[in-house]
Amino acid sequence: MGRLLITNARILDVSENGDSVAVRTGQDVLIDGNRIEALLPEGTADRSQFDSVIDAGGMLLMPGLINCHAHVPMVLWRGLAEDVSIERWFNDYMWPLENNLQPEDVYWGMLLGLIEQIEAGVTSVADHYFHMQLAAQAVEKSGARALLGYAMFGSQGLAMVEETARFVQEYQGAANGRIRTIMAPHAPYTCDDDFLRASAQAAKRLGVGIHIHVSETTDQTVASLARRGMTPVQVLERTGVLDVPTILAHVCGATPDDIRLLERYPVGIAHAVKTYLKLGQDTAPVVEFLAAGLPVGLASDGAVSNSTLNLWEPLRLMALTQKQRARMGEAMPIAQALHIATRGSARVYGMPDELGAVAPGYLADLILIDLSGAHHQPLHNIPASLVYNLQPGDVRTVIIDGQVVMRDRQLLTIDRDEVIAQVVSRMERLSYLDPAKRIQTYA
Ligand SMILES: [Zn+2]
Repeated sequence: MGRLLITNARILDVSENGDSVAVRTGQDVLIDGNRIEALLPEGTADRSQFDSVIDAGGMLLMPGLINCHAHVPMVLWRGLAEDVSIERWFNDYMWPLENNLQPEDVYWGMLLGLIEQIEAGVTSVADHYFHMQLAAQAVEKSGARALLGYAMFGSQGLAMVEETARFVQEYQGAANGRIRTIMAPHAPYTCDDDFLRASAQAAKRLGVGIHIHVSETTDQTVASLARRGMTPVQVLERTGVLDVPTILAHVCGATPDDIRLLERYPVGIAHAVKTYLKLGQDTAPVVEFLAAGLPVGLASDGAVSNSTLNLWEPLRLMALTQKQRARMGEAMPIAQALHIATRGSARVYGMPDELGAVAPGYLADLILIDLSGAHHQPLHNIPASLVYNLQPGDVRTVIIDGQVVMRDRQLLTIDRDEVIAQVVSRMERLSYLDPAKRIQTYA
């Protein structure tokens, strides 16, 4: 770290309310340590005051993308549960496969996923998985930013709440503050009310939030109403989960009453539309969430349901599916989609004043995008190109917390070949499938 100057960039500027987007030129970006110090008229900064200078050569500078809900180490099983229903995805594949997981697998899987994310310009991830001490080590090494939750099921008993609370305490602020932690009960259908209540109490006591799956499908809402007379969102309210800042993954089965209820709580919604499409499920009512003032952020979910951790895909698919859902080409305009990808995701991630904008005082989590490819030409509309045309390989340089972690497509913190060799060496053991040995049952 030190002082870094970025010159000759076009800078993406999404308005705070998401109504408009602009691309500004003629400004240098001054970075001091891990934060953006100032934006000054081009050429006015004294170059001798900087440890390094990046001439962006007209590339686009924007905030790094934030993955608001993932299980990054699941890249280990990428491609092993294709063309299946959500029931078979859990019961016949994912939960038996996860029975093979050993702690060290999490380290290498996390690193592989972080490589994929950094190469696609994703600088932060809210991850929800197991053996998170190993995930934290991988985050520390990679230079990435992460919000880590140790996933738990009600069947593991209340002692697990205390065990994951210890993880939350121990790793809060790790990696020079790049790691934050959060409580992570799996979902209302895998955690009973007492377990959810204990999770919410632990979160309150520790001053952190909760990251949880809820109403992943319309069927889950229907089943919960039949079984308990209330929706999964109402279960979260009743058990106190919504009283702390909460990341709600999916909420595809949100009812109009659920949306009105959520307006009263400090929640954000992580939207992983590619997963919904692959599993043949309804997407979430994103336009209605936004109209109710609920923050929405982009998410990949795990790569076994989503194939990739590249957030440009869900960005594009979100805009397209919301247009289709509304039967209106005017729905989810480009500025709104880019607002979700930047400021909206930062709000869901819990750092609205520090991430999601290229502005003084914000953390220096920035990416440079090369728009010279044929698929962007001629450049009539840069914001449209970001939403609809961009390929992950267009991301050339990635800066996280003021540190350059990828320069001109070269990873500077992780040995790519070593990580891939480590993951491949585990493949046979990890892919062993015995449906009788599943860690949970989806019903
Ligand atoms: Zn998930």
